[in-house]
Amino acid sequence: MPNPNDLNLNAEVVEGDFDNMPTGMSKILPPPQPGIYIFQMPSAEILYNAFETMDDAVQGQRLQIVLEDEAALTLQKTGQPYHAKLNNRTRVMNYRSGAVTVNDMGMLLKALGITPESNTNPGYAQAMLEAGGKTFKGEHGLSTNCSEKRDIYKDGKPVVGTKGCGQKYAHEGYAPRDGGKPVLNIPKEGDQFKLQFDCVCGASLKSWGRLKGFGSVGSKV
Ligand SMILES: [Zn+2]
Repeated sequence: MPNPNDLNLNAEVVEGDFDNMPTGMSKILPPPQPGIYIFQMPSAEILYNAFETMDDAVQGQRLQIVLEDEAALTLQKTGQPYHAKLNNRTRVMNYRSGAVTVNDMGMLLKALGITPESNTNPGYAQAMLEAGGKTFKGEHGLSTNCSEKRDIYKDGKPVVGTKGCGQKYAHEGYAPRDGGKPVLNIPKEGDQFKLQFDCVCGASLKSWGRLKGFGSVGSKV
Protein backbone atom coordinates (compact mmCIF):
# COMPACT_ATOMS: atom_id res chain seq x y z
CA MET A 1 0.00 0.00 0.00
CA PRO A 2 1.24 3.54 -0.71
CA ASN A 3 2.21 5.95 2.02
CA PRO A 4 0.63 9.46 2.17
CA ASN A 5 3.60 11.06 0.38
CA ASP A 6 3.19 8.78 -2.60
CA LEU A 7 -0.49 9.56 -2.99
CA ASN A 8 -0.14 13.09 -4.35
CA LEU A 9 -2.81 14.29 -1.90
CA ASN A 10 -4.57 17.55 -2.70
CA ALA A 11 -5.24 20.20 -0.06
CA GLU A 12 -8.99 20.55 -0.55
CA VAL A 13 -11.08 20.91 2.57
CA VAL A 14 -12.68 17.71 3.84
CA GLU A 15 -16.30 18.43 4.78
CA GLY A 16 -17.33 17.65 8.33
CA ASP A 17 -17.37 19.32 11.69
CA PHE A 18 -14.28 17.81 13.23
CA ASP A 19 -14.62 19.70 16.52
CA ASN A 20 -18.06 18.27 17.17
CA MET A 21 -17.55 14.89 15.55
CA PRO A 22 -18.57 12.00 17.81
CA THR A 23 -16.16 9.09 18.04
CA GLY A 24 -18.96 6.66 17.33
CA MET A 25 -18.85 4.60 20.48
CA SER A 26 -22.24 4.56 22.14
CA LYS A 27 -21.96 6.09 25.57
CA ILE A 28 -25.47 5.16 26.56
CA LEU A 29 -25.19 2.19 28.84
CA PRO A 30 -28.25 0.52 30.31
CA PRO A 31 -29.36 2.25 33.51
CA PRO A 32 -29.06 0.40 36.81
CA GLN A 33 -32.06 -0.91 38.73
CA PRO A 34 -34.03 1.73 40.64
CA GLY A 35 -32.46 2.80 43.91
CA ILE A 36 -30.25 5.35 45.60
CA TYR A 37 -26.77 5.76 44.14
CA ILE A 38 -23.85 8.13 44.55
CA PHE A 39 -23.19 10.31 41.51
CA GLN A 40 -20.34 12.64 40.69
CA MET A 41 -20.85 15.89 38.80
CA PRO A 42 -18.49 16.68 35.90
CA SER A 43 -15.97 19.48 36.46
CA ALA A 44 -17.10 23.11 36.41
CA GLU A 45 -15.11 23.56 33.19
CA ILE A 46 -17.25 20.95 31.44
CA LEU A 47 -20.48 22.12 33.08
CA TYR A 48 -19.82 25.61 31.70
CA ASN A 49 -20.82 24.43 28.22
CA ALA A 50 -23.71 22.19 29.24
CA PHE A 51 -26.49 24.76 29.68
CA GLU A 52 -29.50 25.47 27.53
CA THR A 53 -32.70 27.45 27.94
CA MET A 54 -36.19 26.09 27.71
CA ASP A 55 -39.36 28.04 27.19
CA ASP A 56 -42.20 27.10 29.44
CA ALA A 57 -45.59 28.30 28.22
CA VAL A 58 -46.53 29.49 31.72
CA GLN A 59 -43.23 30.12 33.52
CA GLY A 60 -41.28 31.69 30.64
CA GLN A 61 -37.53 31.17 30.26
CA ARG A 62 -36.09 28.41 32.37
CA LEU A 63 -32.54 27.09 32.63
CA GLN A 64 -31.63 23.48 31.90
CA ILE A 65 -28.36 21.65 32.34
CA VAL A 66 -27.76 18.73 29.99
CA LEU A 67 -25.64 16.15 31.79
CA GLU A 68 -24.93 14.00 28.77
CA ASP A 69 -21.94 12.75 26.79
CA GLU A 70 -18.76 14.37 28.18
CA ALA A 71 -20.92 16.23 30.72
CA ALA A 72 -22.58 13.02 31.96
CA LEU A 73 -22.73 12.25 35.66
CA THR A 74 -20.58 9.35 36.83
CA LEU A 75 -22.17 6.54 38.79
CA GLN A 76 -19.62 6.07 41.52
CA LYS A 77 -20.30 2.36 42.07
CA THR A 78 -19.52 1.26 38.52
CA GLY A 79 -17.81 4.32 37.01
CA GLN A 80 -20.34 4.31 34.19
CA PRO A 81 -21.73 7.53 32.72
CA TYR A 82 -25.31 8.44 33.63
CA HIS A 83 -27.32 10.86 31.55
CA ALA A 84 -29.67 13.36 33.14
CA LYS A 85 -31.27 16.71 32.35
CA LEU A 86 -32.10 19.00 35.24
CA ASN A 87 -33.96 22.28 35.02
CA ASN A 88 -35.35 25.00 37.27
CA ARG A 89 -38.94 24.75 36.08
CA THR A 90 -40.99 24.82 39.25
CA ARG A 91 -43.75 22.51 40.40
CA VAL A 92 -45.77 22.24 43.58
CA MET A 93 -45.24 19.22 45.79
CA ASN A 94 -47.58 18.37 48.61
CA TYR A 95 -45.92 17.34 51.83
CA ARG A 96 -47.53 16.66 55.17
CA SER A 97 -46.37 20.08 56.28
CA GLY A 98 -48.08 21.71 53.30
CA ALA A 99 -47.48 22.58 49.66
CA VAL A 100 -43.95 23.63 48.61
CA THR A 101 -42.81 24.99 45.26
CA VAL A 102 -39.72 23.08 44.13
CA ASN A 103 -37.50 22.58 41.11
CA ASP A 104 -35.02 19.79 40.38
CA MET A 105 -31.97 22.04 40.04
CA GLY A 106 -32.78 23.70 43.35
CA MET A 107 -33.20 20.35 45.10
CA LEU A 108 -29.80 19.18 43.83
CA LEU A 109 -28.12 22.43 44.91
CA LYS A 110 -29.73 22.15 48.32
CA ALA A 111 -28.38 18.59 48.71
CA LEU A 112 -24.90 19.93 47.86
CA GLY A 113 -25.23 22.80 50.32
CA ILE A 114 -25.04 25.46 47.58
CA THR A 115 -27.40 28.45 47.63
CA PRO A 116 -27.92 30.50 44.45
CA GLU A 117 -26.96 34.14 45.05
CA SER A 118 -30.25 35.18 43.51
CA ASN A 119 -33.42 33.35 42.60
CA THR A 120 -32.85 33.99 38.89
CA ASN A 121 -31.56 32.00 35.92
CA PRO A 122 -28.05 33.58 36.17
CA GLY A 123 -28.11 32.85 39.91
CA TYR A 124 -28.92 29.21 39.27
CA ALA A 125 -26.27 28.96 36.51
CA GLN A 126 -23.55 30.29 38.80
CA ALA A 127 -24.64 27.95 41.58
CA MET A 128 -24.59 24.94 39.22
CA LEU A 129 -20.98 25.75 38.28
CA GLU A 130 -20.10 25.61 41.97
CA ALA A 131 -21.47 22.05 41.93
CA GLY A 132 -18.68 20.95 39.53
CA GLY A 133 -16.87 17.79 40.66
CA LYS A 134 -19.05 17.31 43.73
CA THR A 135 -20.76 14.06 44.70
CA PHE A 136 -24.35 13.57 45.82
CA LYS A 137 -26.86 10.84 46.49
CA GLY A 138 -29.54 10.56 43.86
CA GLU A 139 -32.72 8.55 43.82
CA HIS A 140 -32.75 6.92 40.43
CA GLY A 141 -35.97 5.67 38.90
CA LEU A 142 -36.93 4.20 35.55
CA SER A 143 -39.51 5.55 33.14
CA THR A 144 -40.32 5.60 29.45
CA ASN A 145 -43.12 6.46 27.09
CA CYS A 146 -44.39 5.22 23.76
CA SER A 147 -44.08 8.48 21.86
CA GLU A 148 -46.94 9.53 19.63
CA LYS A 149 -44.44 11.71 17.75
CA ARG A 150 -41.93 9.03 16.74
CA ASP A 151 -42.09 5.91 14.59
CA ILE A 152 -42.14 2.82 16.77
CA TYR A 153 -39.47 0.12 16.90
CA LYS A 154 -40.41 -3.51 16.61
CA ASP A 155 -38.08 -6.51 16.31
CA GLY A 156 -35.11 -4.14 16.32
CA LYS A 157 -36.29 -2.11 13.32
CA PRO A 158 -38.26 1.13 12.98
CA VAL A 159 -41.77 0.69 11.60
CA VAL A 160 -41.89 3.63 9.21
CA GLY A 161 -45.09 5.67 9.50
CA THR A 162 -46.43 3.91 12.62
CA LYS A 163 -46.35 6.21 15.65
CA GLY A 164 -46.41 5.14 19.29
CA CYS A 165 -49.62 4.92 21.32
CA GLY A 166 -48.71 7.53 23.97
CA GLN A 167 -48.69 5.09 26.89
CA LYS A 168 -46.35 6.09 29.74
CA TYR A 169 -44.51 3.71 32.07
CA ALA A 170 -42.59 4.04 35.33
CA HIS A 171 -41.08 1.53 37.73
CA GLU A 172 -43.76 2.67 40.14
CA GLY A 173 -46.86 3.24 38.01
CA TYR A 174 -49.58 5.59 39.24
CA ALA A 175 -52.90 7.17 38.34
CA PRO A 176 -52.48 10.93 37.80
CA ARG A 177 -54.57 13.07 40.17
CA ASP A 178 -55.99 15.07 37.30
CA GLY A 179 -57.72 11.93 36.07
CA GLY A 180 -55.33 11.50 33.12
CA LYS A 181 -54.29 8.17 31.65
CA PRO A 182 -52.67 5.89 34.27
CA VAL A 183 -48.90 5.48 34.07
CA LEU A 184 -48.31 1.71 33.91
CA ASN A 185 -45.67 -0.30 35.75
CA ILE A 186 -42.53 -1.24 33.85
CA PRO A 187 -42.73 -5.07 33.81
CA LYS A 188 -40.29 -7.16 35.83
CA GLU A 189 -38.34 -10.28 35.15
CA GLY A 190 -37.82 -11.97 38.51
CA ASP A 191 -37.03 -9.09 40.85
CA GLN A 192 -35.45 -6.92 38.15
CA PHE A 193 -37.28 -4.24 36.20
CA LYS A 194 -36.96 -4.84 32.49
CA LEU A 195 -34.75 -2.36 30.64
CA GLN A 196 -36.42 -3.35 27.40
CA PHE A 197 -40.00 -4.55 27.00
CA ASP A 198 -43.03 -4.47 24.71
CA CYS A 199 -45.65 -1.73 25.07
CA VAL A 200 -49.36 -2.64 25.17
CA CYS A 201 -49.40 -1.66 21.46
CA GLY A 202 -46.54 -4.01 20.65
CA ALA A 203 -43.80 -1.36 20.21
CA SER A 204 -40.38 -2.15 21.73
CA LEU A 205 -39.57 0.29 24.53
CA LYS A 206 -36.41 0.98 26.54
CA SER A 207 -36.48 2.10 30.16
CA TRP A 208 -34.61 5.34 30.83
CA GLY A 209 -33.08 6.55 34.05
CA ARG A 210 -34.53 9.56 35.83
CA LEU A 211 -33.31 11.34 38.96
CA LYS A 212 -36.20 11.99 41.32
CA GLY A 213 -34.59 13.11 44.54
CA PHE A 214 -31.24 14.23 45.95
CA GLY A 215 -29.33 13.98 49.17
CA SER A 216 -25.89 14.78 50.51
CA VAL A 217 -23.38 11.93 50.51
CA GLY A 218 -23.21 12.00 54.27
CA SER A 219 -26.97 11.72 54.71
CA LYS A 220 -28.62 8.46 55.74
CA VAL A 221 -31.15 8.44 52.89
ZN1 LIG B 1 -47.37 1.83 22.70
